[in-house]
Amino acid sequence: MTSPDAPALSVVVPAYNEQEVLPEFHRRLAAALEGIGMAWEVVYVNDGSRDTTLEVMLGLQRQDPRVAVVNLSRNFGKEIALTAGLDHARASDAVVVIDADLQDPPEVIPALIAGWREGFDVVYAQRNTREGETWLKKATAAAFYRFMQRIGGKVQLPPDTGDFRLLSRRALDALLKLREHHRFMKGLFAWIGFPAKAVRYDRAPRAAGTTKWNYWKLWNFSLEGITSFTVAPLKVATYVGLLTAVGAVIYLAQLLVRTFLYGNPVAGYPSLLAVVLFLGGVQMMMLGIIGEYLGRIFNETKQRPLYFTERYLPSRQAR
Ligand code: UDP
Ligand code: MG
Repeated sequence: MTSPDAPALSVVVPAYNEQEVLPEFHRRLAAALEGIGMAWEVVYVNDGSRDTTLEVMLGLQRQDPRVAVVNLSRNFGKEIALTAGLDHARASDAVVVIDADLQDPPEVIPALIAGWREGFDVVYAQRNTREGETWLKKATAAAFYRFMQRIGGKVQLPPDTGDFRLLSRRALDALLKLREHHRFMKGLFAWIGFPAKAVRYDRAPRAAGTTKWNYWKLWNFSLEGITSFTVAPLKVATYVGLLTAVGAVIYLAQLLVRTFLYGNPVAGYPSLLAVVLFLGGVQMMMLGIIGEYLGRIFNETKQRPLYFTERYLPSRQAR
């Protein structure tokens, strides 16, 4: 991918309906990258926005030769938009992934680059605080990370870390080899390995616009994370089944003893119903878990391209 005129650093920015923040974002990014001593470009990915995000990007591209624009054919979601940006990053040395809404402060990027200069391939930004987020969101996020840590095994997700990070060129090349459709980026970033380092920062509240996340989406995101990250839930069925069977045998033995000692007064309709309903529920749930995996297998076997680009305007100059 890299050519002689390639910039050393690419900053990849996925954006969906971010018309209000983009100009401010670009101003702060350019200011933050002022003294880094590397030629850089910024790759803006318009993820099928329904406002004038694309026009704003094209305006920036006209004014600033360091701007590249990738316009996707429709909204594909952040994970795929990010991948599209990474595919189009021309950098020879490193890429930085950052959100457009200024929740990831561009001023942290020099610290990420410093980590890379120390020799780390992955330098991820770790949040100190989650300002402007409700306690419920903080609590659910904490629970999610704890759960992922329990089931992660060899691949561990660093807590309080989003997609905001720097990747060296070889780490990026490794990441780009992973072409699965169900892309849980945090999991993929962790899976590739390479020496990694954390840089701590304070996460700001959104600068403008609104978050596209609600609890239903977050729930689905967690499901996506778990099912594309590990097959551990499939083992749950085995153990629940085993436990139920053992419980049933113990209950049967007790029942036999009671019948022989005291006769059988034929009662227990409510308990029978409770057991039948409980087991029915457990079986349905296990089928659902298998279905989650099956659906993902179905989607992967179609082997479709991850996205289509409507147009790509490369950056015109590296400096
Ligand atoms: N985003 C995107 N496509 C989408 C949703 C979001 O490219 O379908 C971008 C969005 O413009 C922003 C980043 O992904 O730059 C993070 O989105 P958001 O701020 O809504 O998520 P949060 O910060 O709450 O995780
Ligand atoms: Mg955000």
